[in-house]
Amino acid sequence: MRITILGAGPAGLYLAYLIKRRRPDTTVTVIEQNPADATFGFGVVFSDRALEFLREDDEATYSAITPHMESWNDITVAHRGERVTIDGVGFSAIGRLKLLQLLQARARSVGVEPVYRRTVKSLDELGDADLVVGTDGVNSLVRRGNEERFGASVRFLSNRFAWFGTGRRFETLTQTFVETDAGSFNAHHYRYAPNLSTFIVEVDGATFARAGFGQMDEEQTRSFCERVFAQALDGNQLISNKSTWRQFPIVHNEHWSVGNCVLVGDALHTAHFSIGSGTRLAMEDAIALDKGLTHSDDIGAALAAYETARRPILEKLVSGANGSATWYEHFAEHMRLAPVDFAMSYITRSGRIDIDRLRRLSPRFVDQFERNRSAANGATD
Ligand SMILES: Cc1cc2nc3c(=O)[nH]c(=O)nc-3n(C[C@H](O)[C@H](O)[C@H](O)COP(=O)(O)OP(=O)(O)OC[C@H]3O[C@@H](n4cnc5c(N)ncnc54)[C@H](O)[C@@H]3O)c2cc1C
Repeated sequence: MRITILGAGPAGLYLAYLIKRRRPDTTVTVIEQNPADATFGFGVVFSDRALEFLREDDEATYSAITPHMESWNDITVAHRGERVTIDGVGFSAIGRLKLLQLLQARARSVGVEPVYRRTVKSLDELGDADLVVGTDGVNSLVRRGNEERFGASVRFLSNRFAWFGTGRRFETLTQTFVETDAGSFNAHHYRYAPNLSTFIVEVDGATFARAGFGQMDEEQTRSFCERVFAQALDGNQLISNKSTWRQFPIVHNEHWSVGNCVLVGDALHTAHFSIGSGTRLAMEDAIALDKGLTHSDDIGAALAAYETARRPILEKLVSGANGSATWYEHFAEHMRLAPVDFAMSYITRSGRIDIDRLRRLSPRFVDQFERNRSAANGATD
């Protein structure tokens, strides 16, 4: 069987490794437009269970990646200068480039060497493979080449975000909210290496316009954001890496495959970065497709098995991610809440956690919230 995979991000690299590991006689070609050591962004987080999903089936990859991760057990929400700790909500993080390098090594270990620096402009260039996999991210050519048949849609959130890094070390994943004359600002920040952190700045459309970001270049944007978050950065600089303002795309496909073309990862669906799951979902999709391919040599049946097994799980997670994205679209309104109430609104934003589950997960935070409530009720009695 000949399989061509377009895109050597986490989905493409991991899928290539899985397929070749299971069936060494398969010809797996991976094509990537960038050089092997290029990447956008800084570090990525994995929520709570981190790489547990790999452990059972792929202990070797799990063991290769986990030593390079930074982990912590709490989230900090900083609002009106007050820091509220939400205990028990752990995350792990790793540099995106480091993760790609580790996955490249895994692929190499089974004999897959991606073709780098080749931009595919038309699906015709991919030749007559038995299966073409679009792991080519949010602007997927494989998806755009069959847009109607995939039932593809892309809608953009109205908030703007810019992905920076910084040398400041943060002890936990922190959500900092700041009110300025131009409007409300949010930063998602966490360390992904001992002394390197991701720092994603988010603003709503009105703040973006009032601040004049549309007329600023990358350096002016960087230094404006640095001033807004001076306290959180504590004298450290923001680092830019093509850190321009973007709007997050929500990608959806009615159908996951068309003929012998199938979508995996961001090409198929996106999950707002606030839930820290896009990379994990991309890798889990790869696992599901690889399993689908073991069911049958008939490509149509294998792709149907992939979608049947994976769709229900994915839709639940994507619905949580969309709930979270909607909360961020209105974060300036939520900021009217006092810090502890605001933190409660934040942690329940995806609609997937009720107070009883939260009490089990974050007993100290729920206790603080309830004491606050009782005090406020006492004051109004
Ligand atoms: C601001 C921000 C923060 C994020 N934070 C997190 C996080 O904390 N945790 C998390 O899990 N996820 C996060 N994500 C999401 C995560 O980056 C993606 O979900 C993940 O990278 C998806 O992997 P993928 O392999 O499907 O796609 P990608 O990583 O996008 O890889 C696609 C690859 O295809 C290549 N390609 C595309 N078109 C072509 C072509 N025509 N020819 C050749 N090559 C091509 C690209 O160069 C790229 O290397 C974040 C995303 C953003 C925007």
